[in-house]
Amino acid sequence: MQKIDERLEPILAEVVRRNVGDKEFHRVVAEMLESLGRVIVKHADYADNALIERICEPERQIIFRVPWVDDTGNVQIARGFRVQFNSALGPYKGGIRFHPSVNLGIVKFLGFEQTFKNALTGLPIGGGKGGSDFNPRDRSDAEVMRFCQSYMTELQRYLGEHTDVPAGDIGVGERELGYMFGQYKRLTNRYEAGVLTGKGLSYGGSRARKEATGYGAAYFVQRMLDTHNTSFEGKRVVVSGSGNVAIYAMEKIIAFGGKIVACSDSSGYIVDNNGIDLNLVKQIKEVGRGRISEYWKLKGSGAHHIEHGSIWDVPCEIAMPSATQNELTEKDARTLVKNGVIAIGEGANMPSTPDAIRIFQGAGVLFAPGKAANAGGVATSALEMQQNASRDSWTFEQTEERLAVIMDNIHDLCANTAEEYGSPGDYALGANIAGFVRVAEAMQALGVI
Ligand code: GLU
Repeated sequence: MQKIDERLEPILAEVVRRNVGDKEFHRVVAEMLESLGRVIVKHADYADNALIERICEPERQIIFRVPWVDDTGNVQIARGFRVQFNSALGPYKGGIRFHPSVNLGIVKFLGFEQTFKNALTGLPIGGGKGGSDFNPRDRSDAEVMRFCQSYMTELQRYLGEHTDVPAGDIGVGERELGYMFGQYKRLTNRYEAGVLTGKGLSYGGSRARKEATGYGAAYFVQRMLDTHNTSFEGKRVVVSGSGNVAIYAMEKIIAFGGKIVACSDSSGYIVDNNGIDLNLVKQIKEVGRGRISEYWKLKGSGAHHIEHGSIWDVPCEIAMPSATQNELTEKDARTLVKNGVIAIGEGANMPSTPDAIRIFQGAGVLFAPGKAANAGGVATSALEMQQNASRDSWTFEQTEERLAVIMDNIHDLCANTAEEYGSPGDYALGANIAGFVRVAEAMQALGVI
């Protein structure tokens, strides 16, 4: 990471002034501006017409009340959000997150990241993000359904297959998307399958979408390792989280010959030096919607559960933070480096703090940033949109093959861009610049928008 070019400093000051207290959003804008110093040296025109300022300002921000009735008959209120960040490359595209930590600042940060992530895929999708501070944990199916219906009742007026296409994210999976799609269909009287992605297979979903973010992260890291003459084969791997991203990253890493020794959730982390039994994790998390702490009770000897402390204390050669933002700190990074880590692949959005990234880069650890490494989910969402538009349904193999090619292309684009801009091996810089240039070119072509 470098200092922000002085010509770009006023842009950050303005973003901070306009978005008081939104520290995650300030951070992602600052990181992008740090990378852009080198771009405006080569392409001075990208600093014209307030182009960068416009890219840092969301096109539209929607905040709404979500009233719903719980199982005891009480009326509850949550707050709903959708930030339609940038539509220069295509309809706004990005997930919906249900988690108590969700606020406008978090949604803006995620929408900004999504814009460049989507650009990296090379597919025609703009960037957006949505969510609510609703906590689905320990809520009944019926409560989740009523909440999703109320959320969609307000949001539907802003959506459309050519306008804005949400998907899942933390706390939103196939069940929630099903309830939302049902409500959208009912309110609009249109079977518009392409308005949401991550849908179930029975109503227009794509094969391999559920697996795509995790598989994609594994493909990206595999390519990164391969270009540095190594691989997952025989390596100890720690994957934080045990949601959709973590589970399918683990599945593909195991197929690549890696050994998963730890994973986690909000109840702590489990360590199994014989290699995590993924079927058991799936059983606990996907079927039972339970806690990872159940693992060691079911598995017995060889495994243990640690309630407090950091999963990054577990020695490994490859670390895949796949839970949530800022989960891997400077201290964790130092521990990982001391224990001999060689590569980091971010399955989550912005899981490593800036200080952690500095430690990794300083120690020569390969670092795959989330906006590149986890782009396989949204890329496969774009493939789902293609299938919906052509009223087609591809096989698992066809879809996964496309995903693998897209991930290799994203890897190569980031690596080549980093080299072109004078920092070979700096995937974070390469991802920022390559994503930005795609958005900037389209914005320039479309006039002052
Ligand atoms: N929430 C995912 C992400 O962070 C997927 C978004 C999508 O498929 O639209 O990229």
